[in-house]
Amino acid sequence: MELSYILNSLGEDHEQYFNAVAPPIVQTSNFTFGTVEALRAAFADEYGHFLYSRGQNPTVEILRKKLAALDGAEDALVFNSGASAIFCGVLSQVKAGDHIVSVSSPYTWAQRLFNVILPRFGVSTTYIDGGQIENWERACQTNTTLFYLESPNSWTFGIQPLAQVAALAKGRGICTLIDNSYCTPLYQQPLALGIDMALQSATKYIGGHSDCVAGVLAGSRIKMEAIFNSELMASGSGCTPFHAWLLLRGLRTLPMRLQHISNTTRVVLAFLKNHPLVEKVWFPLDPNFEQYELASSQMTGACGLLTVVLKLHSAKQLTAFAENLKAFKMAVSWGGHESLVIPRVAALPEMSFDANDPLQRSMRLYLGLESPEYLMADVENALRKAKST
Ligand SMILES: *Cc1c(COP(=O)(O)O)cnc(C)c1O
Repeated sequence: MELSYILNSLGEDHEQYFNAVAPPIVQTSNFTFGTVEALRAAFADEYGHFLYSRGQNPTVEILRKKLAALDGAEDALVFNSGASAIFCGVLSQVKAGDHIVSVSSPYTWAQRLFNVILPRFGVSTTYIDGGQIENWERACQTNTTLFYLESPNSWTFGIQPLAQVAALAKGRGICTLIDNSYCTPLYQQPLALGIDMALQSATKYIGGHSDCVAGVLAGSRIKMEAIFNSELMASGSGCTPFHAWLLLRGLRTLPMRLQHISNTTRVVLAFLKNHPLVEKVWFPLDPNFEQYELASSQMTGACGLLTVVLKLHSAKQLTAFAENLKAFKMAVSWGGHESLVIPRVAALPEMSFDANDPLQRSMRLYLGLESPEYLMADVENALRKAKST
């Protein structure tokens, strides 16, 4: 399906709402019925009817159709956070006694689910370096029901060979679930490579304006219906109409925003790689990146997030760099209009700094919608001030 059609028309029916161009926020908890038969039909199949907005809602439905089409999926569910998309997606695939194989250090709250919550119910997880297919094969047990992927991840950008992992899983009846937040479906199509379900934090690029927390899960109609009828409805973690409307608004400009950020990334990456105070840059589509071949074989683009290792050898200098940035705000998250920085030292106890560890001298940068010149001048200024600290 054509991208412009998906973003501008699919799922929209203007005649239903006064020929308004922008879809309405159907801000209602409830839907009424004129006949017992109609109510009975909605009770029997809430997935297919508007009954109560914890389930289906017309504004959310427009968004679901667009997001499913973007992923090349039969259907998509929208959640009130990326974390709840992870929670419901994972939970739907395990029962007591089952086993998960996951990439090492997935998103923080996926780790919490695997390490703290699921063990209480007898579900165990083995973490592996997901870059080699042998590692997935070796970690499999007879009770393995889920492979959890995140490619690339959002600090060191580790990549997994998606088609190979999907093929291995299919042969063993194991479900595959990927966190595709970094690429979005515009730059990576996991389902086309055989992955069963793809999720994203829509808080990041889909929303794109740092004003909404949400998540997406896409896959087969059978899987989405089953998750809707159990995990989503029981946890009440669906997306509200207003948030769906914000995400629809974000989607309109998604390709342009990604394109702008890709261009900025190319310019800023070259600047960083040539800078005397920069030791190394990690970015999955940089030809020097360790897994560049694999990355470029399955991703059609990458943008925004990169990690830079600085030749600043004290926690004090690294702190000064982060604090002297003005255009880059110090904050978690990414995908919005504003550029961001997270210094790795912020995640370390203050006294434990080891300058020999490049990871500890790293900063994660997110490049937003500002001009590359504005951002490079900011980095230059902060590096100069940090060096003289
Ligand atoms: C932010 C993020 C999440 C969680 O999404 P929320 O919308 O914050 O709940 C999951 N995975 C990745 C890679 C993320 O960056």
